[in-house]
Amino acid sequence: MLSRDFLKLAGLTIAQRILPPALMNIWAQAADAQAKGRKVILVTFGGGVRTSETFSPAGLRNIPRLAELQPQGFFYQNCLNQGTLSHFNSTASIVTGNWQRVDDFGFEAPASATLFEQFRKAHKAGPLDAWVIATNKSFAAMGASSQTSFGLPFGANVVLPKQLLLDAINDIVKKPDAADVANRDAVHQRLTSLLEEGYEGVGWTIFKGGRQMDKNIRTTLTRALGEFINGPEVPTSGDELTFFITREVMREFAPRLLLVNFWDMDVAHWGSYSLYLQAIAKTDRLTGMLWDEVQANPKYRNQTTVLVLPELGRDGDMNTANGFLNHRSGDPSCRNTWLLALGAGVNKGATDKPIRHIDVAATAASLLSIKPEGMAGSPAREILS
Ligand SMILES: [Zn+2]
Repeated sequence: MLSRDFLKLAGLTIAQRILPPALMNIWAQAADAQAKGRKVILVTFGGGVRTSETFSPAGLRNIPRLAELQPQGFFYQNCLNQGTLSHFNSTASIVTGNWQRVDDFGFEAPASATLFEQFRKAHKAGPLDAWVIATNKSFAAMGASSQTSFGLPFGANVVLPKQLLLDAINDIVKKPDAADVANRDAVHQRLTSLLEEGYEGVGWTIFKGGRQMDKNIRTTLTRALGEFINGPEVPTSGDELTFFITREVMREFAPRLLLVNFWDMDVAHWGSYSLYLQAIAKTDRLTGMLWDEVQANPKYRNQTTVLVLPELGRDGDMNTANGFLNHRSGDPSCRNTWLLALGAGVNKGATDKPIRHIDVAATAASLLSIKPEGMAGSPAREILS
């Protein structure tokens, strides 16, 4: 419940004139505490997935976890990407609430303030409270916009776990003794030193907030990456690593606002339909595991809203291009995706009423009790309880 609704329900719009200021403060603090507890996690099926392979009668078998969760949440059958059909701009539109048209290789920051900046500025939230964890290596600039009144001082920490791992392996391969690449300790060591090298390198942007905090973050990431590399599961997938790091960040820092970008399904560009389907199934499994973590983690349980949506669709099979391989035709299978909202503050239900990608940030802002500046999107009233 938004704090202003809480105040209204409590009759405080009238009471303001009657109650002594001290009592007012207690009520305001209670409402504030409630608003402060709310957390929002955005999960993108990045890289693009069609409704035909997900929330269609034939597609449901690829997404058993989401299919099972759907009745617990609110489902939008038509979530529209009306912007540029490329990765950086699609996700930047989702996180800013404005259609973005910046450089798509990630060399430019989003042009409008991101939800992270709006949230941190409005709530005076610290640098540990907003994170982007992305498989797509071009998302290093996703955490903060080029808006001068916002920007990096209010941005999210960005971690590109797959990129960190790839850089570590690349560095080892370049060495004369390339046999080391199969040596997990060597990869781990190189990763550790990559993290030591500082925040401005590609792969992670962590905002400075005092030496001690930086050290904690570095230690946490190093440990998590090390456990992943040396753990029982062979690190075969960027998205699995993204999930693993996300869970560590949740357990360690419990941020209130988080974007998790899964991206393995964009393997479709290589033309293998079965690999594309496997990646969808994996994204579904990892999203399910993320939901399980929300339920199991007392810092998230009962106070977290999870919004899951594809970044974009993919071309239709009847398209003159190559169907599922690409996502540039602009036909309905490319632009019409879906959104599933789960958890705290969400009504149960479903609708075919369209919602736009730019409405997602506005909805999240509403859940976080922020009045965002300059967002073209509007909150999805249907889901907000
Ligand atoms: Zn792509």
